[in-house]
Amino acid sequence: MKQLSQAQFEFLQGVFGADKVNSGDSARKLHGRDFSGHPSHLPAVVVWPQETGQISRLLAWAQEEAVPITPWGAGTSTEGNPIPLAGGVVVDMVEMNRVLNLWPQDMQVEVEAGVGFQDLNHSLRHEGLFFPPDPGAWATIGGMIANNASGIRTVKYGMTKDYVQELEVVLPGGRVIDTGNRAHKSSSGYDLARLFVGSEGTLGIVTRAVLRLAGMPEHFLAVVAGFPSTNAACQAVTELIRHGTDPAALELLTPPLARLLNRVNGLDLPESPLLFMEFVGFSARSLEEVLEIAREVCAELGAQGFEAGLGKVNRDRIWSARNAAAETIKQTHAGLEIMITDAAVPMSAYEELIAFSEQQVTGSGQVGYVFGHAGDGNLHLVWMGDPKDPAQWQKLEQANRAIVEKAIDLGGTATGEHGVGMGKSKFMLAEHGASMEVMAQIKDTLDPKGIMNPGKIFPAASTGVHSS
Ligand SMILES: Cc1cc2nc3c(=O)[nH]c(=O)nc-3n(C[C@H](O)[C@H](O)[C@H](O)COP(=O)(O)OP(=O)(O)OC[C@H]3O[C@@H](n4cnc5c(N)ncnc54)[C@H](O)[C@@H]3O)c2cc1C
Repeated sequence: MKQLSQAQFEFLQGVFGADKVNSGDSARKLHGRDFSGHPSHLPAVVVWPQETGQISRLLAWAQEEAVPITPWGAGTSTEGNPIPLAGGVVVDMVEMNRVLNLWPQDMQVEVEAGVGFQDLNHSLRHEGLFFPPDPGAWATIGGMIANNASGIRTVKYGMTKDYVQELEVVLPGGRVIDTGNRAHKSSSGYDLARLFVGSEGTLGIVTRAVLRLAGMPEHFLAVVAGFPSTNAACQAVTELIRHGTDPAALELLTPPLARLLNRVNGLDLPESPLLFMEFVGFSARSLEEVLEIAREVCAELGAQGFEAGLGKVNRDRIWSARNAAAETIKQTHAGLEIMITDAAVPMSAYEELIAFSEQQVTGSGQVGYVFGHAGDGNLHLVWMGDPKDPAQWQKLEQANRAIVEKAIDLGGTATGEHGVGMGKSKFMLAEHGASMEVMAQIKDTLDPKGIMNPGKIFPAASTGVHSS
């Protein structure tokens, strides 16, 4: 749906106010694509709700008129998740950004879905609390819930799903439900709150969330170690976890990325397979003990450089370079588009997946950088290519497919954290088999007219398992 009728447009102005409805070219283009190389699709109009009641009226109307609806957080997805494939209305949540309640004793906070997680953490800084999932980019809580985002600290702190206590969700048709509760545990019926986690805006719009928080540690220790082989680096990951060092981050970088980060950021990293590690603790002494164990584990595996006790400035430089790795790769290959492989496997298979991925990069002759959240078996491979060169883009697609299929064969998943969006839907049947039919039934029950973020998660209709 590329355009709305005058009456439809006026309805939206009546609900949201004239200044919160925009069908101009620039607003539509800004909401037509995400961080990925997936092609842009423009919505007919963008709206900026201020409160849940407006969204309820919108979804009642949209179901009645069969108007496609795509929720939008910050648009930082990497699989085309918020691209409005069928046009219609994009619902930009960013103005619903209030922190509503804080319960420091319960370590819980209630927020509107459009709040940025960094802004939330900034507002919590004097409480000694924080919301740990960190996807690196400026993302909204609603987008993180919808993608079940995680990031470099997942190895210790878990994913967004682990922090969701309670959600307010507006369903297609306009019904508003409140699901979950604030108790630390509950075995009360189906866990509907978690049904919406990872649903990528295909089941409804999350408007409010009660989230768990974690205590901010007082002491940090950053370590960088270079290894003689990727195999040794991966073994170190397993051993560090098995020895109970409880790392807060364990990131693997392969030499081409280390070289790039050195060049662009003026760093001096060893240009061998590298581990970036972070440990946190309540005292400097406890961290010294952890450091000794980490040093021994790495030495036994032949680590050549083991730089520990990095000062805050160095630590921040290294972590900000790592956090910006995807941006850096994109910026240094101007004119090309990004494709990201985000498969995850059990820890025992991580080394095999990394080695296979490095072979795919070499074999394809394309630009690709291998790295990953090694502590949770999550590979990232950032490919750069030109979608306007079909032969070249196809080579990337083939290599990406080979890696994802390998990950699934190894007992893993097509996507560790970025979600399915448009890019990974073709792998859903291979990964989920008959469960896909159950997912389609859930989708059809909650969204019988298929208005919510159409074209995402489910494979194309030709596969036989799709939602209406
Ligand atoms: C440089 C870079 C690095 C990244 N690194 C990581 C990483 O380490 N880990 C990781 O997990 N991700 C990573 N990402 C991906 C991305 O940042 C996350 O997936 C993030 O959670 C997306 O949030 P967003 O607010 O941008 O949501 P959007 O991209 O706007 O939307 C994401 C999905 O959520 C839906 N949605 C948005 N708001 C709502 C709502 N209120 N209710 C229902 N559905 C909604 C959208 O329709 C879409 O399907 C990275 C992205 C970039 C650009």
